[in-house]
Amino acid sequence: MHFVHESLPQRVRFAPGDAARGVEAEIDRLRASRVMVIAAEAEAALADRVTSGLPTVLRHADVVMHVPVEVAQRAREAALANDVDVIVSVGGGSTTGLAKAVAMTTALPIVAVPTTYAGSEATAVWGLTEDGRKTTGVDPAVLPRAVVYDATLLRSLPTDLAVASGLNALAHCVDSLWAPLADPINAVLAAEGARALHEGLPLVARDGAGLPGIELALYGAHLAAKAFASAGSGLHHKICHVLGGRYNLPHAQTHAIVLPYVLAFNAPNAPGAEARLAAAFASPTAVGGLSALCRALDAPRSLSDLGLTEAEAEAAVDDVLVVVPESNPTPVTTENLTALLRAAWAGKDVS
Ligand code: NAD
Repeated sequence: MHFVHESLPQRVRFAPGDAARGVEAEIDRLRASRVMVIAAEAEAALADRVTSGLPTVLRHADVVMHVPVEVAQRAREAALANDVDVIVSVGGGSTTGLAKAVAMTTALPIVAVPTTYAGSEATAVWGLTEDGRKTTGVDPAVLPRAVVYDATLLRSLPTDLAVASGLNALAHCVDSLWAPLADPINAVLAAEGARALHEGLPLVARDGAGLPGIELALYGAHLAAKAFASAGSGLHHKICHVLGGRYNLPHAQTHAIVLPYVLAFNAPNAPGAEARLAAAFASPTAVGGLSALCRALDAPRSLSDLGLTEAEAEAAVDDVLVVVPESNPTPVTTENLTALLRAAWAGKDVS
């Protein structure tokens, strides 16, 4: 075995029903006294529950998916004008993403309270969009210092979004098994993450407010994000990044749709990943296990359902080809990638 693994420095609290106290304790640890709360309008009620006891000097609700640079700039200016010394973000990946954009230029610490399964809170990856092009990068300054997971905050997530977001988390597990910095430690995190998501998401789909399912899925999503943070982006993330950037597609749904096709594409040449995922899904094969899960969750099926045309899906091929990691188990060609995208566009059965 010959590898280098980096674990990111971060405190993590799981505190169902107790986020307010958890965040307060983290703010005290940071000796902070001027809080900027970032939460989108739709997340305001959740943020109230978490932050009412904090010394808040600024509430910021100007959150837009994929963090347009002008949105980031406004938030940075507001943080500086109010002399804040900590950011508390309460929301999904878009909200966490805006907090990261502020931390990037101000070095302010972030205490993140996630309300979806996106997992951005556990990575040092930032993303910004300018003129329709999304740029991402890695910067230790954007990694939240602390994360407080409170399953009760996800009870209000609409079931279709919870399912898509949970499959976005599962995509982190799957892709990290063959991403450029895949290693045995990531693989353990990914496999346990996949197991927990496979067990938790059907419970969430049946009862969106049920805590046992949400708690399992949140735990799985955290492990998934840790594996992804260490392993980097594999073929799946490269495809979704290109599609999302070109066509402004909804993030979680795009991941949920594309994942089975990438797994079917790579599994025949990735026996280690196949074995781990099959075991995590308690299924004879990884692809069969994922297909059954997607059916049980009534997951989104096709890129055409997101409003994409077949020609648009195919037009993404060249952009993906230039960013495919060398580590990908199945050699990627124009022909097989076109076939993959056509299948995902049409929502063809995967076997
Ligand atoms: P999102 O944050 O855009 O949230 C989707 C919608 O759900 C929003 O309208 C939001 O207000 C609402 N919402 C969130 N939590 C809710 C709750 N508990 N109850 C009711 N409504 C709720 O979507 P997302 O999928 O969480 O995040 C997507 C973004 O995160 C993308 O920009 C993506 O690139 C980024 N992301 C980044 C990383 C990273 O490592 N940097 C990882 C994953 C995702």
